[in-house]
Amino acid sequence: MLDLEKYRKIIVANWKMNGSIKFINDFSEKLALLENLEESTCRIICPPFVYLQRFRDQLNNFYFGGQECSQFDEGAFTGNISAKMLKDLNCNFCIVGHSERRKLLNEQNFEVSKKSSNCINFNIHPIICVGETLEEKNLNKTREIIEKQINESVPENANKNNTIIAYEPIWAIGTGLTPSLEEIDYIHQFIKKDIKTSKDYKILYGGSVKSSNFKEIIQLTNVDGTLIGGASVIFDEFKKILYI
Ligand code: PEP
Repeated sequence: MLDLEKYRKIIVANWKMNGSIKFINDFSEKLALLENLEESTCRIICPPFVYLQRFRDQLNNFYFGGQECSQFDEGAFTGNISAKMLKDLNCNFCIVGHSERRKLLNEQNFEVSKKSSNCINFNIHPIICVGETLEEKNLNKTREIIEKQINESVPENANKNNTIIAYEPIWAIGTGLTPSLEEIDYIHQFIKKDIKTSKDYKILYGGSVKSSNFKEIIQLTNVDGTLIGGASVIFDEFKKILYI
């Protein structure tokens, strides 16, 4: 496992199902040219699985992660990728329980927990995503929903050194909307201080982060980093964020 304590901030790029070999080659060539990147920031790129191999042993300034891994170790699970395979491809991180998977594939907390546990067993830090819908927010249920997701998704072998939580309000993902800065900091504090399961964990914010709002979000006391989707596949946007 990497020592996360040595990093002040963590930036995760979730490329989702975007890119092509040409895109990846161009993007990584440009990334490789970036100099004087902040040493105290942990930078992680999560490309589609099929392109992970191309990054292996490249780009010293970045770590790599999967966008998902199987709850099983191996066997007849067509299309699945195991934590062990991710480790083979040099991954130190894996996004688990992203809301798109929870919604589109009906992924449940117990599966997220199993997947996260597998990651930890292979020295991969799971980045466990949690967040409320707009309806739940409007009903003032954000804390209740998040606490339940965390309690059921964080496995027994997790601790503050091997696991990261990403707070991603579902209504903020890809919409251009974000909670207020006060709301973001408050929920991060709640996860870190009030939920026993995730006490003192590193907590990332995700949901419509871009270069224009990155600084004010990353500076919040209880925010340890950001998970970035759309803006992370636009090179000039991502570069701006890396130098803020
Ligand atoms: C995400 O997919 O985790 C995400 C935060 O996306 P976006 O930055 O595009 O809202």
